[in-house]
Amino acid sequence: MNIEKKNIIVTGASGGIGKSIVKKLHENGAKILATGTNEEKLNKLKNELKDIEILSFDISNHEKIEEFIENATAKLGGNLDCIVNNAGITKDNLTIRMSMVEWSKVIDINLTSTFLMSKFAIKKMLKNKSGKIINISSVVGHTGNVGQANYTASKAGIVAMSKSLAIEYAKKNINVNCVSPGFIGTAMTDKIDDKFKQLIISKIPANRLGSPEDVANAVLFLASSYSDYISGETIHVNGGLYLG
Ligand code: NAP
Repeated sequence: MNIEKKNIIVTGASGGIGKSIVKKLHENGAKILATGTNEEKLNKLKNELKDIEILSFDISNHEKIEEFIENATAKLGGNLDCIVNNAGITKDNLTIRMSMVEWSKVIDINLTSTFLMSKFAIKKMLKNKSGKIINISSVVGHTGNVGQANYTASKAGIVAMSKSLAIEYAKKNINVNCVSPGFIGTAMTDKIDDKFKQLIISKIPANRLGSPEDVANAVLFLASSYSDYISGETIHVNGGLYLG
C-alpha cells in the first residue's frame, strides 16, 4: 500500500483499534512509533512485532506534547511522515448527572490532545512539505448518543477541527483526514451491557460489530499516497449504520 519506510506515530497503540492499526501499517512496511500509557501492553506489542519503537506518554500532559513529538520523531530517525491520533476515552453519564470532571477529561484527552498532537506534528511535517494526519472520530460524533454529551462533542470537534487544519495546510502538502468507526469490538465496547449491544447490532445493516482491522484498513488507505488528493474528509467505517 505504498507506505514503505514511512515514519508513523500511532497513539492509543495499547488499545484494541490502535494495536490493529500498528500491525496493519507495520506489515505494509512503515516504521512505527507506538504510544500509550500502559507500558506492559506496549512492551508486549514490541515483543510481537520486534522492529517498532515504543514510547509511553500520557497525552493529557499538554505541556509535554511538543517534547513528546520531538522525542518520538527522533526515535523514528528525525523525520515524521504521518500521525494517527487514535487515543480516546469515554466517561459516560446522562447530562444532568455529568460532572465537570467527566466533561473536561473527555474533552481534554479526545479533543485538546488531538489538536496539540496535530499542531506539533504539522510543525515537523512543514520541514518536508508533506505529511498525513489521521484523526479517529466516531459515528456518535455525527449522530449524537444518550449519555455521551462529552464524548460526542469531542468527536464532532475532531471532525470540524480536522477540516480547518486540512484547509490551512493543503498548500504545504499535508493532508488531514478522519476515520469515524461505528461500533467496533474492543475493550471500549465490552463495557456496553449485552442486551444493549444486541440492540445496537440489530440496527447495523451489516448485522455485526466492526473489527479493529476494518478501521485499520481505512487508516492504511489514508496513510498511503493513494489518498494524496483527499483532505478534510471523513471515512465512515460502520457497516452502514450511519451514512455521512
Ligand atoms: P481502547 O481499547 O479503550 O483503547 C484506548 C486507547 O487510548 C488505549 O491505547 C489507551 O492507552 C489510549 N489512551 C487513553 N487515555 C490516554 C492518555 N491519557 N494518554 C495516552 N493514551 C491514552 O479503545 P478503542 O476501542 O481501541 O478506541 C480507539 C479509538 O477509537 C478511540 O479514540 C475511540 O474513541 C475510537 N472509537 C472506538 C469505537 C469502538 O467501538 N471501539 C467506536 C468509535 C470510535 P493506555 O491504556 O495505554 O493509556
